[in-house]
Amino acid sequence: MKIIPYGKQCVDNLDIAEVVKVLKSDWITQGSKVHEFEKAIARYCNAKYAVVVSSGTAALHLSCLAIGLNKGDEAITSPITFLATPNSVLYTGARPVFADIDYDTVNINPTEIRNKITSKTKVILPVHFAGLPCDMPEIYKIAKNKGLKVIEDACHALGAEYKYNGKWIKIGSCKHSDMTVFSFHPVKAITTGEGGVITTNNKLLYSKLLALRSHGVYKTTDISTRKGSWYYEMRELGFNYRLTDFACALGISQLKKLDRFLERRREIALIYDRNIVQQGKQLCGYNTRSARHLYILKMDFKYNKIKRIELFNKLKKMGINAQVHYIPIYRQYYYKKIYAINPLEYPNTEKYYNNAISIPLFPDMKNRDAVYVADALAHILSGKTKREKYE
Ligand SMILES: *Cc1c(COP(=O)(O)O)cnc(C)c1O
Repeated sequence: MKIIPYGKQCVDNLDIAEVVKVLKSDWITQGSKVHEFEKAIARYCNAKYAVVVSSGTAALHLSCLAIGLNKGDEAITSPITFLATPNSVLYTGARPVFADIDYDTVNINPTEIRNKITSKTKVILPVHFAGLPCDMPEIYKIAKNKGLKVIEDACHALGAEYKYNGKWIKIGSCKHSDMTVFSFHPVKAITTGEGGVITTNNKLLYSKLLALRSHGVYKTTDISTRKGSWYYEMRELGFNYRLTDFACALGISQLKKLDRFLERRREIALIYDRNIVQQGKQLCGYNTRSARHLYILKMDFKYNKIKRIELFNKLKKMGINAQVHYIPIYRQYYYKKIYAINPLEYPNTEKYYNNAISIPLFPDMKNRDAVYVADALAHILSGKTKREKYE
């Protein structure tokens, strides 16, 4: 039986050829491909600078460090995100604070952000969930009023846009933030195996990120002309979060296909929109163009007469691997141990979590795969038992 995963990379022979070329060259890391990939990403997102790193998590960690997040600080983020978002805050010694989501968009609610701001708050970390842009103009306004920084977790949202003053703004252009973070994990919009990037328009943050990526070493021409070209200076504690040249070659090749991938994701989403009836969906408004990273259903299992686990297992039997994005962070064992948050404080997050299920969506899916998924759902929910196997 054919298995349809919820997400999957799309790598072709052209991609492979580009990687092989680098592997046969003299530089397989820290060569010219890193800079070339950074320039291409910055150009695509309409940002001044881009710094590629070894993962989306590393990108989040470094952006938190670059704004000086530290012990005693608080960072406001969504509880519906991958662990990497709040974990990156914890790495710096600061405390993640969760603000409830909006049930319709599944994105962080700006009013809830306002309610969570204290004298310790230093940064707002909105997550463009499933590829749908958060209300960035509003979030930025809140941040400016309170003197806070903004880091966008756009790991789902490479290629997404929102309308502002009649113009389409690309996620990653940092029009309403200090930095934006993307991931190149295989399930994301484009892949480098593992990998991530930070975009920014701020030169100071840019040079900080470059140094933190490689042990906190600054190599400026003014130091080396004074002290000799061999000289380098470690000014702060950095990491080895570099991305290899062959990964960047893959990234450059993938980026050329990004708009086609996005178009394909939107086509499949449209098939689901048309073929899946009577189920709640993530609201994708008129002033946003979602990158369609995930296709989310909100099922109201209370009234559907079927438990989520039953639906999951039945889909699986039919070769469809669904997923839940995500378990609210405050429900994780580790976070419960340190915070003891009461889930009742997050009514929308809880309601969403009880109802959510992600169905397969990736560019290589065929139209008939999407129709099959929609039919399978309808069939299971109708309560019938027998069905032909998918060949
Ligand atoms: C994938 C993802 C990350 C982390 O990216 P990695 O490259 O896997 O480290 C962070 N935040 C969100 C929302 C993600 O989906």
